[in-house]
Amino acid sequence: VQGLRHDLSAIVGDEGMPSESELATYCHDATIQRGLRGRADAVVRPADARQVARVLAYCYEQQIALVPRGGGTGLAGGATPVVGGVVCSLERLRSVLEIQPALWRMRVQAGLTTAAVHRLARENGLYFAPDPGASELSQIGGNAATNAGGPHAFKYGSTGDLVSELEVVLAPGEIAHFGSGAVKDACGYDLRGLLVGSEGTLGVITELTLRLLPAPPRRLAMVLFLEDRGAAQRLLLEILASGLRPAVLDFVDGKAFAAAAGTFPASPHAEIGMALLLELDGLDGQVQSERAEIESLAAQHQALEVVCPPARPLWRWRDGLSLAISAQRGGKISEDVAVPPERLDQAIGAIYALGESYDLPACTWGHAGDGIVHATFMIEPSCASQLERALAASEEVFDLAHELGGTITGEHGVGWTKRAAFQRHTAKAALRAQRQIKDALDPKGLLNPHKNCPLENS
Ligand SMILES: Cc1cc2nc3c(=O)[nH]c(=O)nc-3n(C[C@H](O)[C@H](O)[C@H](O)COP(=O)(O)OP(=O)(O)OC[C@H]3O[C@@H](n4cnc5c(N)ncnc54)[C@H](O)[C@@H]3O)c2cc1C
Repeated sequence: VQGLRHDLSAIVGDEGMPSESELATYCHDATIQRGLRGRADAVVRPADARQVARVLAYCYEQQIALVPRGGGTGLAGGATPVVGGVVCSLERLRSVLEIQPALWRMRVQAGLTTAAVHRLARENGLYFAPDPGASELSQIGGNAATNAGGPHAFKYGSTGDLVSELEVVLAPGEIAHFGSGAVKDACGYDLRGLLVGSEGTLGVITELTLRLLPAPPRRLAMVLFLEDRGAAQRLLLEILASGLRPAVLDFVDGKAFAAAAGTFPASPHAEIGMALLLELDGLDGQVQSERAEIESLAAQHQALEVVCPPARPLWRWRDGLSLAISAQRGGKISEDVAVPPERLDQAIGAIYALGESYDLPACTWGHAGDGIVHATFMIEPSCASQLERALAASEEVFDLAHELGGTITGEHGVGWTKRAAFQRHTAKAALRAQRQIKDALDPKGLLNPHKNCPLENS
């Protein structure tokens, strides 16, 4: 290990080598909540893409695994070095290379935080919509590598939809560019699209060109409280069928809402089955007429109440929901399955039933318009049996999502934690095609091994 660290410091310099006391923080991501921790033989913080390429070339020569790391906020164990090797943190690649407000684009390095991208866009009168919940820590490169979404992904798409070009370090240590500055690009296979969501298993993203949007002049947040989940499901489908396109169309079920009702930024309704959280955006007149339409649909579906809290506090409250739910028992196991939106109520009912059969309190929230359900089982982290039962219940949630015509992950990715479900629910021919892509781009299997792949390839 000393020899390895010596060789790597010759590439990245002393500044690129974290101290001994810092190493532990690079050995896990947000799945540390469930006790998942890896071990790294070395951690490097390269200063630029050339250094990343030299580190990867060295790992390839020496047959050492390399695990790309963004902000470490992933919820699938993707950045956890489960079999040792070298963790390659992108945190020093945080320059803004170019902003062209009139052309609505920005070129940045991969280690810039998501929040910094949002701020920069805002300061230039523009808007970058994908907003995964840990944006002060997560990096834009990590967002592309997981194709992260968030509430506003409903109208504007996930990160990959707004990335037009990528600079990527490929095995065995070459810098490549995918995509182009053209608005449309039909040249060759869509390797830009392939790298999006590849979870560090096909290359290391070092630079991105992002598509920005003009900032909507008016935003209006609305919360529709419903007593009955079935009515909420019908209302959701009416909103989707109406052709209205809210920027956000989220839900919080009654049990999840209760966990954070005390900090809700308007007077909360006591007994609800579900709340639908919306944001309307656009010109003022358009927003007002859409508001009237939503209110009328809500009344037709016996909504208990419609409130319009200020948007920022509402979305801050929504970001804090996960923590408030964890605080109920000290911990939780939460997965991000997605189902067709018309099956949301059925999925939630089945998740409650699983909670009962595993003797664990269950709740759900998520992105209703996209059918993404954060299926959550609350646990006391010190209780091994609760953790075991919650993990078993989650495997059944993956099966349920598949049976309902959905998928095991709508936004967090497969990582390390969903390999078994990935294997169970992907047909042989599709698994073979996945394997062939991995082999073509990473023939030695050293790029983030055992991630984003089925169990049998682990
Ligand atoms: C409180 C909370 C709320 C969240 N809310 C959402 C949400 O609403 N929507 C959502 O989609 N996600 C959400 N997440 C999950 C997480 O924030 C996202 O997946 C985020 O995109 C991860 O970015 P990161 O920089 O932290 O990546 P990491 O966790 O460091 O890495 C994630 C994966 O990407 C790879 N990777 C990272 N950087 C690179 C790179 N430059 N090149 C190649 N591979 C790389 C890693 O190897 C790993 O496989 C949430 C997480 C938390 C803790």
